[in-house]
Amino acid sequence: MELREYFATHGEEENVVAARHAALRNWNERLKFCSACGVALPPVNEDTTECIRECPICHTQHFPRIEPCIIVVVEREGKILLARHRQRNTDIYACIAGFVEAGESIEHAVRREVREETGLEITNIRYRGSQSWPFPDQLMLGFTADYASGEINLQKEEIIDARFFSRDDLPKHPRPGSISYQLIHGLI
Ligand SMILES: [Zn+2]
Repeated sequence: MELREYFATHGEEENVVAARHAALRNWNERLKFCSACGVALPPVNEDTTECIRECPICHTQHFPRIEPCIIVVVEREGKILLARHRQRNTDIYACIAGFVEAGESIEHAVRREVREETGLEITNIRYRGSQSWPFPDQLMLGFTADYASGEINLQKEEIIDARFFSRDDLPKHPRPGSISYQLIHGLI
């Protein structure tokens, strides 16, 4: 079964196991050598809950990467902001999202991503929930926020279109099983 569908049809404990398995498989594929001394690292057992690999030569301990990402639905007068992303090359409208950058707080990342992608300023940022998203190693941190000011001014390299939609009249959007779906439908 495709992992996104699995997430949509299983409970939290099962999803943690499935997400960890996928994350460890991705980690084995991406980390082949010790970053301290350069020797080959043995792979971790993908079924383990001991998420650690120790270098056989220099004994540096390596842990799986977890990349924090923010995902946010901006609300304005009962409508929500969704955007079509150029690189995904589909007709799907999704939430504004992006990686937390070095040195940044999560709230700063939320404000920055909305500003960069759409030109809008937001306020009243509220945490809603999170989801492990091992494609390959993201931890999605979900928020809602209120529109504060500005006109939509697209970041053209990344965004094809961004608009406020009524929840009663949504465009094609991410499927169940993603935190994006839950935010879009106001389920969290
Ligand atoms: Zn080493």
